[in-house]
Amino acid sequence: MMRIARHGMVILALTLLTQLGGIAWIIALFFRRRLIVFLLAYAGLWTLAYTTSPRRALPCFGEPLRMQSPLYCALNRHYVAPELASVAQDAATRMAITFPGTITLALDGGFPFMDGMPLIPHLSHDDGEKLDFAFYYATPDGRYLPGQTRSPLGYFAFENTPPENCPANSLTLRWQLSWLQTLLPNRPLDGPRTAALITQLAADPRVSKIFVEPPLAARLGLSHPKIRFQGCRAARHDDHIHIQL
Ligand SMILES: [Zn+2]
Repeated sequence: MMRIARHGMVILALTLLTQLGGIAWIIALFFRRRLIVFLLAYAGLWTLAYTTSPRRALPCFGEPLRMQSPLYCALNRHYVAPELASVAQDAATRMAITFPGTITLALDGGFPFMDGMPLIPHLSHDDGEKLDFAFYYATPDGRYLPGQTRSPLGYFAFENTPPENCPANSLTLRWQLSWLQTLLPNRPLDGPRTAALITQLAADPRVSKIFVEPPLAARLGLSHPKIRFQGCRAARHDDHIHIQL
């Protein structure tokens, strides 16, 4: 009974994290050399997703657009609708023309299959029509750092503009993660590049909404009807940019 519960937990965790990892674990349960079979089965399912998903996988390497870390690719979190993939490519290309050498980094997109299955912890990333981008960062003396973020996975390095006024609420996803903030390097936001990317995304007719924390948008001098506050229940958006079709 305990064993069944334990495997159930593993299958659930792998499914929530990677969509296909739980299936690979179920396959591995039929074999003695479980870990190796799991890795082989996962590699097979990964390749199957890559070749048959109705969504498009964003590039894991290269320029001017790539996932912030190959980990996003390994976990199947880099899939978006073909139209959104073009939006991201076009924005990254224009950024590299305006600011030569700029590398635009994408964060969580969506899973390869199944509309309606959210990419935890992003409840809205459930149909391939949502994508997050990392901010651009610079050295303390203002030199742009190509392809680098402030935190290891691009999320959770909050800009300390005064936060949007939200009531204290235990249901909120507005994590503060204060312990993490003190560990992160001093790497200021590259304001001109970040503002230019948001402006370009707002000008793209295929994009319907962009979430940026309002005080940060104000600090970057941005104002556009598509640039919105995501609400107090959702995660903070002063560490990344969220767009949707
Ligand atoms: Zn998002």
